[in-house]
Amino acid sequence: MSSLLPAQDKYPTNYFIAPLDIELKLVGTFGELRSDHFHSGIDIKTGEVEGLEIRAIADGYVSRIKIRSGGYGNALYITHPNGFVSVYGHLQRFIDPIKSYTRNAQYQNESFSVDLYPDKNQLKVVKGQIIAWSGNSGSSTGPHLHFEIREEVSQKTVNPLLFGIDVKDNTIPIINMVKIYPFNKQTTINGKNEAVGFFAKRSGNVYVPVKNDTIEISGNIYFGINTFDPFNGGQNVNGVYSIQLFVDSTEIYSHDLENFSFAESRYINSFIDYKEYKQKSRRIQKSYIQPNNRLTIYNHVDNRGIIHFGEDGTHQITYLVKDIKGNEAKLSFYVRGKIGEISEKKEKTGGILFNYTGQNKFETTEVKFDLPGKALYDTIYFKYKVLPKTKDAVTPIYQIHYDYVPLHSFGKLAIKVDSLPPGLKAKALIARIDNKGKPSYSGGKWNNGFLETSIRQFGNYCAMIDTVSPTISPLNIKNGKTLAKQNTIKLRIKDSFSGIKSFRGTLNDKWILMEYDAKRSLLTYRFDEKLLSGKNVFILTVTDKLNNTNTYTANIIK
Ligand SMILES: [Zn+2]
Repeated sequence: MSSLLPAQDKYPTNYFIAPLDIELKLVGTFGELRSDHFHSGIDIKTGEVEGLEIRAIADGYVSRIKIRSGGYGNALYITHPNGFVSVYGHLQRFIDPIKSYTRNAQYQNESFSVDLYPDKNQLKVVKGQIIAWSGNSGSSTGPHLHFEIREEVSQKTVNPLLFGIDVKDNTIPIINMVKIYPFNKQTTINGKNEAVGFFAKRSGNVYVPVKNDTIEISGNIYFGINTFDPFNGGQNVNGVYSIQLFVDSTEIYSHDLENFSFAESRYINSFIDYKEYKQKSRRIQKSYIQPNNRLTIYNHVDNRGIIHFGEDGTHQITYLVKDIKGNEAKLSFYVRGKIGEISEKKEKTGGILFNYTGQNKFETTEVKFDLPGKALYDTIYFKYKVLPKTKDAVTPIYQIHYDYVPLHSFGKLAIKVDSLPPGLKAKALIARIDNKGKPSYSGGKWNNGFLETSIRQFGNYCAMIDTVSPTISPLNIKNGKTLAKQNTIKLRIKDSFSGIKSFRGTLNDKWILMEYDAKRSLLTYRFDEKLLSGKNVFILTVTDKLNNTNTYTANIIK
């Protein structure tokens, strides 16, 4: 739970400067709802270009340098003496000496990806100093700076806008939709045991339901809301800071996005209506805490957000939604409680009881599924089905419950595979089959005639074979070419199924640093001392996750 001190008083507001010397506009807010996580920082617009100067927000030292083809791409972490760490992601390049420090380590490890922890005397920085240039590296979908402030000891990430870093915003949040959910089978909402949703529209400074009918409820329910925050002058909508829910004048529920730990970020799948998200791509934030949801962003929640309407009487329900600048959107509507209406829907049975508290196991002759305790947010009736084999599969497709039910931790899935020619055993894998029938690699190691892997998503799985090697397409070299008017070698590498596991480029048998941009399938070597004058032999080997390899060789002349 957040502490009782107002968030603004817990963090120094005059200590840090902004990481960019421009008017800050956000394309992503702290705690914004993302796929399987809450956004851990803010995304600052860089005007659709790369190469803006990034400044150290205070004195400190570079305590971590992480280079990856995905994730934050080229990222710097600076530890400050006041107990906070600032993080800068998707960078284009670093200044020297950070650049040469990183390059040395990459050559020493013969690896593009590195995760380095310099000690506090190696790479000191001062407040306002340029440390890097903004970019679009890693899994970024457009140039921007991903910026975080973390508490050094707790490793919790904190909303950077609580440190006095200013963003202009006087636009109130948008409330799009409210949904009312029956808590159990005895509840009725407008006479049925089904969730009811309605859209809202703005009327002056408040929101009202588009169709303003009183909703009749008998029994236990909870509410959920679909809401966003637009910024001044921005086309995109971001996440809101806080949500409060009142029945008449009593607060039933509130949360805010002051801080959270990375370990709890996946609880987002319990925080939202996951089924609605999976089926309609709409994120409804539930004002209800499932039994195994351990998120700490909640402030005050009565009875986990479950509200009883039993006696005749009308109640005003009010949602208050705020952005971090305190701009507030309000939505009110009415519900009428009814006595003891009985649900017409029959209790559905079937499936195997998987209790959220303990370990759960399922086993047939062809499939084993093993789920550790606390992997589920609530108790479920586990469903299993054998579906027909598709032409590329070597087993039937096994339905392991429903993909719209979220899993918090990994379970172990084992699929029996027989009658494989011995040569193909090493090329077998477990594939997840999505709603459109598209397979994706999900691992797989042999154990006693079964392929085994860990899965963190329910859904359809089968065993398949991958014998196809990655492809290599040179973009600016060919065998025998004289490299007169260029200072890079670029190649595109792709793998059709299991994905690229590793690559290795050499010049004259010596490893060279090739930067890998996975989202563009692009490998780049920037000319350095490894390229000799005269003739050079360039070799690139690319390997996928089933160890299918491809090699490209070219003699090049400098
Ligand atoms: Zn980001």
